[in-house]
Amino acid sequence: MHHTPHLDAQAMSLFESLPDALVAVDTGWRITALNQRAASLVQQTREEVLGKPLWETFPEALGAACEQHYQQALQTQVTVRFEVWYPSLNRWFQVTASPSHGGLVLFFQEMTRRKHEAEARWWLAALLESSDDAIIGQTLDGIITSWNAGAERLYGYRAEEALGQPIALLAPPERLDEIPRLLDLLKQERRIDQYETERMRKDGTRLAVSTMLSPIKDATGHIIGASSVARDLTERKRIEEALRERDVLVRTLLQHHPNESVTIFDPDLRLLLAEGPGLEAVGLSPQRLVGKTLAELLPPEAVDSVTPYYRRAFAGESVQFEFAFGGHVYTINAAPLPNKEGTIAAIITVAQDITTQKRAEEALRASEHLSQAILDSLTANIAVLNPAGTIIAVNEAWRRFARDNSAPGSLLVDTEVGSNYLEVCRKARGAFAEEAQEALAGILAVLHGPHPHFTLEYACHSPAEQRWFLMSATPLPAGEGAVVAHLNITERKRAEEAVRASEVRARRLLESNLIGVVVADGEHILEANEAFLEMVGYTREDLDHHRLNWSAMTPAEYAPLDQRGLQELRERGVCTPFEKEYYRKDGSRVPILIGAATLQEQPVQWACFILDISERRELERRKDEFISMASHELKTPITVLKAFSQLIQRRLEKQGMSELVQDLARMQTQLNTLTKLVNELLDVSKIQAGRLDYAQETVDLDALVHEVVELLQQTTATHTIRLSGASQAQIVGDRDRLSQVFTNLLTNAIKYSPQAKDVDVQIVLSAETVTVSVRDYGVGIPRAHQGKIFERFYRVQDYHDKTFPGLGMGLYISQQIVECHGGKLWVVSEEGQGATFSVTLPLPHTEGAAEARAAMNPR
Ligand code: ADP
Repeated sequence: MHHTPHLDAQAMSLFESLPDALVAVDTGWRITALNQRAASLVQQTREEVLGKPLWETFPEALGAACEQHYQQALQTQVTVRFEVWYPSLNRWFQVTASPSHGGLVLFFQEMTRRKHEAEARWWLAALLESSDDAIIGQTLDGIITSWNAGAERLYGYRAEEALGQPIALLAPPERLDEIPRLLDLLKQERRIDQYETERMRKDGTRLAVSTMLSPIKDATGHIIGASSVARDLTERKRIEEALRERDVLVRTLLQHHPNESVTIFDPDLRLLLAEGPGLEAVGLSPQRLVGKTLAELLPPEAVDSVTPYYRRAFAGESVQFEFAFGGHVYTINAAPLPNKEGTIAAIITVAQDITTQKRAEEALRASEHLSQAILDSLTANIAVLNPAGTIIAVNEAWRRFARDNSAPGSLLVDTEVGSNYLEVCRKARGAFAEEAQEALAGILAVLHGPHPHFTLEYACHSPAEQRWFLMSATPLPAGEGAVVAHLNITERKRAEEAVRASEVRARRLLESNLIGVVVADGEHILEANEAFLEMVGYTREDLDHHRLNWSAMTPAEYAPLDQRGLQELRERGVCTPFEKEYYRKDGSRVPILIGAATLQEQPVQWACFILDISERRELERRKDEFISMASHELKTPITVLKAFSQLIQRRLEKQGMSELVQDLARMQTQLNTLTKLVNELLDVSKIQAGRLDYAQETVDLDALVHEVVELLQQTTATHTIRLSGASQAQIVGDRDRLSQVFTNLLTNAIKYSPQAKDVDVQIVLSAETVTVSVRDYGVGIPRAHQGKIFERFYRVQDYHDKTFPGLGMGLYISQQIVECHGGKLWVVSEEGQGATFSVTLPLPHTEGAAEARAAMNPR
């Protein structure tokens, strides 16, 4: 569309610099030019707007007022100026429409702020006039400068009569000095609020007013006058008067309303009356309250929360609301208190402290929640029935169970809150029919007496698993109904089953009588099987009469063993079997092997397993006797044989029969081996009988070890024995027996290392001991055997490729000898890696050595 710019570039650039918006239109109302300010006002670019009809960009221009003004300007060719509110821009503008070159140039001068100020002044004036209160403006000298309708009404002077007069016009003679005093206070910037005084009307009557004085300031902030707002207090005074008359009555009435308080407020929300025990309860005395405004008594939030209700009461409404304050909750009723003429100059409020009630309600609610929470936390399926059998509550478990088990006719199906459980029982069918009848009778008996409780175990096997339930009905107090619970007892049933089975097994074991079994407490044997009774020669009657006191049945020398066993029981709950003896009823002894386990802690009970080992003991005794006899029997002929062979040797040597001498020497070697074996057997039986005796002599240990090493080096061609270290120690003991120990260790070291070339012997001295160790590089000892090789006749048998001759006596004897010297013999070994046997002996000055010497059997 064509348009003619009728403003030249120079004019345009001038307009650009203006803060006001400018738009030019042609006679066809098309925009021919606009400045940046105008474009940004409508938030469009100039290009978007140019050429478009004015209405499109400024819709308000089409409005009656604008359009008329524009038309007028065009027709008359005279500039028109008007003010307009542009709602789309939310602004007031002063528009100047100037005719120019067949079009119009429009200036939009923003005037929003100015307009608002003017409006505010207008509102203020309207407010002043419409206010019921008397509002008077005055200079600081007390000359009246403004007088509103309220003032006219209150004081009876018309504005023309009052304006220019001194304000003292209104003061009664005795209060003439009051006004200058108040104005003085005001000059000192002191606010004067709710000042109650007396004034005089034009007709000379007096009236009570409450005035509020505030300063009027000029633009520079100087106080140039005062404005006073006065409110007629006559009505209030009248109420107060009336109240005083009725005071006694009111007070008496109120005293009979605990927790309540009554207050009467005037429109300023000033308390005209406050009464009631409710006030005292919160520590307020009526005397201190009357005359104060609500704002003086309560914090602002509290005032804000009650004021709207009180305003409604002043508007004629009766209101009730809850009000929380100072930890209390009140119900407040506020009602208008009209006077004879029907005007509401006061309201009356009754506050009732409902804190306790509120708390009780809350507690009840909480306890209801709690009950449900408790119900839900229970794993049993629980429903609460009212006396009619209607379900009034169920827990989560019940709900879940009823949902998951939809088997028709069961006792838990179709049971939600509201349904009648007795009906459910009556309708139960099929597998449940019989139990349901029983349940029904049981619940009825609990609901209506005479039974205080009812339980029923029933099976409810689903195709997937066997299940059992325990149903119970328990009455609620005061005949309020009953609680029905179905507890899944499948686990318990299974456990019971398992216990029964294990009991059967245990009883069988007990009754098998292969082994004595007893249950004992700290003193007595409480239960025992036949095998045990037979072992100790007591009868079942003896047992039942608590005649089996186990510690009395134990010979004194075994008491320490028993104590050790008890200690172990306390610490670990079981004790390693050990051997001891019991006195039989007839006083004879029976050797036994006993093991025990704790059955229960409080009071303590043990189960003990007892094996009669008399036969084994007898066998051992006979074996020992045999060994002892055999070794004695063998010793004599061997000694004789040795003596003869030496005799023969000497004779043959004399006769020069050297070949036979050599044969005889071989025979003697075998005889020596035999002698050694027989001696060892004898040693073993002496140790068994506690009859191995020791010499007590001073032994030079280094020399002794040297000697043994040298001797054995002579008899072995396969190994080199390397000796290191020295102790310079003198030991008190039996030289021959100690030599026997080292000989034995070295012989073993050579014997059990057939592939090795060396054996190392080391002597090490410490402060209290001397240690001799013998290290070999042979087969070693598997860990499992290391504890046992020191036992009598114990031998390691499982060497795959080789057997070693021997009877398993050497280490046993050696250990006995070392221990009798107060020392220790032990081994460190790894299978296939050789072994190190060490002998540690106490030095003579030590306690260990002294003890050993005292304990030795002197030879
Ligand atoms: P034995 O007469 O059988 O050698 P010992 O009482 O001297 O009897 O030794 C008991 C067992 O200890 C032996 O049978 C052997 O298995 C094992 N034993 C002893 N010394 C050694 C050693 N130096 N190396 C490996 N095994 C050994």
